[in-house]
Amino acid sequence: MELLKDRIKKDGKVLSEHVLKVDSFLNHQIDPELMLAIGKEFAERFADEKITKIVTIESSGIAPSVMAGLYMKVPVIFARKRKSLTLNDDLLTATVHSFTKNETNEISLSKKYLSNEDRVLVIDDFLANGQAALGLVEIVEQAGAQIAGIGIVIEKSFQEGAQLLKEAGLRVESLARVASLSNGEVSFVNENVEELV
Ligand code: 5GP
Repeated sequence: MELLKDRIKKDGKVLSEHVLKVDSFLNHQIDPELMLAIGKEFAERFADEKITKIVTIESSGIAPSVMAGLYMKVPVIFARKRKSLTLNDDLLTATVHSFTKNETNEISLSKKYLSNEDRVLVIDDFLANGQAALGLVEIVEQAGAQIAGIGIVIEKSFQEGAQLLKEAGLRVESLARVASLSNGEVSFVNENVEELV
């Protein structure tokens, strides 16, 4: 998605060879117009998948997910990273190791919002080693629902997440695929060359 890649080039900050900071439009300050375009792109890419629900994880997955939900006309559920006092009914849970925070959290979501009739699109802001997405997939499967695919705003293709998810038979659609963060620069996967291979 060119609009997103241009924005990453313009405003993304390379913190290390492994971490990209996009606090000015996705992870702290949010650009609603860009999120709306991202939601539309997800809706178009998954248009044939008969999706009934979107599942994401707090907090940075929520903005792109809500915009996708708006276009797809389906509800959005976000998994919580901490136990909430009001979220004490029947829970679906999975253990996720956070790449950026280097801590392990139990993520949870109330059973009442997913059923075995749902076809779910999982959305997240970043894909690194795939632990967050795999945790969400695990929760959706616990509910007996089907996974229709994984929608990622920024995939870091040099980490193992995308490959792990694809090996698990999941359809992964990433709107920007970062090939490397070397020398303080963002370079993207050349999708045209890849298609020819
Ligand atoms: P994974 O579970 O795939 O290893 O990592 C995905 C999660 O870690 C995302 O939900 C995102 O919050 C965070 N994350 C991973 N890599 C980056 C990064 O380079 N920049 C930012 N801002 N977040 C990241």
